[in-house]
Amino acid sequence: MAQAGGDELEAVKKYFNTSGFERWNKIYGETDEVNKVQLDIRKGHAMTVDKVLAWFDADAAGGAASASSSSSSSPSSPSPAIAGRTVCDAGCGTGSLTLPLAERGARVSASDISAAMVGEAERRFRQSPAAGKEGVPAPAFEAKDLESVGGSFDTVCCLDVMIHYPQDKADAMVGHLASLAERRVVLSFAPYTPALALLKRVGELFPGPAKATRAYLHREADVEAALARAGFRVTRREMTSTSFYFSRLLEAVRE
Ligand code: SAH
Repeated sequence: MAQAGGDELEAVKKYFNTSGFERWNKIYGETDEVNKVQLDIRKGHAMTVDKVLAWFDADAAGGAASASSSSSSSPSSPSPAIAGRTVCDAGCGTGSLTLPLAERGARVSASDISAAMVGEAERRFRQSPAAGKEGVPAPAFEAKDLESVGGSFDTVCCLDVMIHYPQDKADAMVGHLASLAERRVVLSFAPYTPALALLKRVGELFPGPAKATRAYLHREADVEAALARAGFRVTRREMTSTSFYFSRLLEAVRE
């Protein structure tokens, strides 16, 4: 089994159970207790989630006549083509992707290294109007690092998690996630570009109080190579950039 590495894993877990939880629960929420930077990140992140949902919806529309083309911003309902699909949402956070996928009928296994984050995801699901509705399977929520997730899923998603790990560890994570995917892997990462690398260095010279963990950028070619080693070929790409949020999104399917 792939290991992200002891100290880094422990530091990330501690962060997302404490100050990181406070920070990201707000960013991934709807309240106005966010500053300008956090609001910008919230919007950027929502765009990434919407792009993933649009892929699910487009595939469903192609495979089933009655599927809707809605995204998370519009009301979603169980879709015949998504219903029953198994999805692993690794590093699910507060459930930004898990909830709309469950609303579409997917059987989601949502896990996160942070019990606080995944606990919040479960709370949000229980309080959502969709919970308990016919055709909306309750996701399986679990506090677990992705290296320890087992099983077999149609699609394995891992959004905005790799930023916490250097490339060698990210390689192992990609390999492990791919081993769980029967058909497809969807993942996002902060891309390494000269401009972003510079921004990051500036950010490190003036670290904000809330930034307790390091942020790692990844070269797309490295991520793609890790996917290829696992037998996956990239089939879709998206990029989301706002002022403070940068996320490259890849879909890869088993060859
Ligand atoms: N994927 C979610 C959350 C992104 S925030 C979304 O897009 O909304 C990053 C999340 O990754 C945090 O909740 C953090 O606890 C989790 N995480 C970090 N390292 C992890 C690991 N090794 N295994 C599982 N989850 C991890």
